Formats: sequence, structure tokens, C-alpha cells
Amino acid sequence: MAKRDYYDVLGVNKSASPEELKSAYRKLAVKYHPDKNPGDKGAEDKFKEASEAYGVLSDKSKKENYDNFGHAAFENGGGGQGGFGGFSGFSGADFSDIFEDFFGEFGGSRRSSRGRNSSNRGSDLRYDLSITLEEAYSGKKQNIQFSTSEKCSTCKGNGSKPGSSPDRCTYCGGNGRVRSNQGFFTVQQTCPQCSGSGEEITNPCSNCNGQGNKQISKKISVTIPKGVDDGTRIRLAGKGEAGMRGGATGDLYLFINVKSHGLFKRSDVNLFFEFPISIADAALGTTIEIPTIDGKKAKIKIPDGTQNGKQFRLKGKGMPFIRRGDFGDLYVQVKTEVPISLNKEQRQLLEKFREIENEKSNPSIKKFFEKAKSFWKN
Ligand SMILES: [Zn+2]
Ligand SMILES: [Zn+2]
Repeated sequence: MAKRDYYDVLGVNKSASPEELKSAYRKLAVKYHPDKNPGDKGAEDKFKEASEAYGVLSDKSKKENYDNFGHAAFENGGGGQGGFGGFSGFSGADFSDIFEDFFGEFGGSRRSSRGRNSSNRGSDLRYDLSITLEEAYSGKKQNIQFSTSEKCSTCKGNGSKPGSSPDRCTYCGGNGRVRSNQGFFTVQQTCPQCSGSGEEITNPCSNCNGQGNKQISKKISVTIPKGVDDGTRIRLAGKGEAGMRGGATGDLYLFINVKSHGLFKRSDVNLFFEFPISIADAALGTTIEIPTIDGKKAKIKIPDGTQNGKQFRLKGKGMPFIRRGDFGDLYVQVKTEVPISLNKEQRQLLEKFREIENEKSNPSIKKFFEKAKSFWKN
């Protein structure tokens, strides 16, 4: 099907101002909104067409492209055609204020129209857990305690005294939603009386006052897998708050904070630290013993002539990859320490060393002075 001209779709001419475009779109959107025309495919297409047109014409640069090239401007991934679906196809378009102004109530009813129970779903909970780097390395089991709501055991969550059952909500007639006239069209809202359940508790359970849920302090054991990082989020399905009157239970999210370590710095699965060595060790070579995150030690051979900043990699001595068997690496960076507070003997030896130092033992110094000399000459 040939695409209609966007200006024709909105029924405006090319010189229409942003306000005129918005008002034209608003009229069509109100008329063809899917919530006003449930099941009407024709209206839905019209609504999408208008939304697409407005999405382009309300965006300055897209409008310019469209004015210059027509629909061809968006044909090869240039615009919204490929990605268009519902309202989400035009990221740059300014729909928000329109939908806030005019569809606030629609927005609400759209969300709850997915199913009665979805609005009764229990809340998700967040629990912040701080662990050490060593714990992140080895994983751990931990008991956590938090306040949540649980299905009332007396009424099994329905809120009515055992033996009685809830009545149909008198306000919405059991529908869960009510209609009201606002300006020039009708909006649907979640029933304020029954919060969309369609039921009214006439004989409330005395254990939970008809809520169906009880606030409790809950203790559970959670397993922190090996390799979690700072900011890792772990979802524990069904461990959140109980739903209202038979609604699904929410989830519990563990937000992991890994405390910074005095020795190791972490980057993803790799660990780093600086290892200070004396200039004598750096010059003569040595073997150093270093700590590893598993609490053990490892040896590194420092060859003679090791320069400050040289990095050594210990394969597999980093953090575990989460839910995999392998590990990152440990990087040890050598930091040579220039000796201070020399005693008499040390000073004499170094003075003696300075006398016999030569170009071969300090090639960088030689190179620098060669460059400096040619600079001064020019
Ligand atoms: Zn109860
Ligand atoms: Zn109601």
C-alpha cells in the first residue's frame, strides 16, 4: 500500500506551525486511540499512521528530511518505518506531553487492563548487601532479614472471614474499572473503591483486617554466587511482597556492593596491585612472593634490569567469571622505591656507584642527552 503523505494524514498544510501539528495529531489520536476503539483494526491503523506522521513532523530534523525527500528519507533505516510499533518507534518524537495531557487516564487503564491480577501483584523489594572482595571471590551463603508482607494464613489471602466470601464491588459492579466523562471523551479508571479487584470485603478477616496480607519480618538464606561484582543485581523470584487477594508475589532483588579492598583493585574479572621493590632488587633481579585473592601466595621472578612500572601477569589468579569455571588474571605492577634516609655506608656505596655508572647501564639517560644536545644546537 502506498504511504499517504504525512501532511495529508494529519490534515494540515506544509506551513503548519508546531502547535497546529500537535493539535491536529491530538484530535486524531483521541478519535482513533486503541482504548477508545477496542478490537477495531482500522482505527488502530489510523492511530498508528497519525502517530507516525506526527513523530516525523514534530521532529525538526526529520521534518526537514521529509520535506526534502518525502518518504524516501526514511526508507533505508533512516527513520521510523522499520522500527515502528505502537508508540515506541520514534524515540525523538515529543509524544510525552500529549500522552500526559490527554492519556494520563488511558495510560493507567492500559497498564491494568492486562489482567486483573497484574495490579494486585505484590511489590518487588530491594535489599542492599555489602560483601568483601574475598567473599565475592569465593561466593557465600548469607541469612538476610527484611520486612515484607505475607499471605494471611487465616483467610488464605482473600481478606474475608473464613466461611464468608467477598461481594461484588458496589461502586464498579465487579468490573474493576469505572468510566467517567472528562471534557470531550470518556476515560476509564481503575475503580477507586476496590482498586480494580471488582470485589468488596463485607466480612473482613480479623487476622489481617481484610487486607489478605500480614506485615512480617522474614529471614531467608541467600546464595551469593562466586564472581559477583559491585552493582550485580540478583533476582529472587517470588521472594517479594505477597500480592493482594490472590495476586502474584513480587520479587526480591539483591543489590550487591563489593567493598573496596586494601590491597587488590578490581576491574571486571582482573585484579591489580602495585608491588614496591628496591632499586637494588630491580637492577639485580630477585624472586618476590606476593599475596593472591584466594589467601595463598605466589612467586614472581623479577629479572635483572626491571624498570619501574613493569607489569607481570599471573594467569587465572583473578576473580572468577560468574557462573563459569574460569578466572581472570592478576596483574602485579612493579614500583621501584628510591631509597631515602641513607646511612653512611649506603651513601658511600651509592656515591661510589655514581662514579662508575656508564652509558651502558643507563641507556635512557644517554638517549635523552643526545636529543637535548641536538635541540640546543638548532
Ligand atoms: Zn486474613
Ligand atoms: Zn470496584
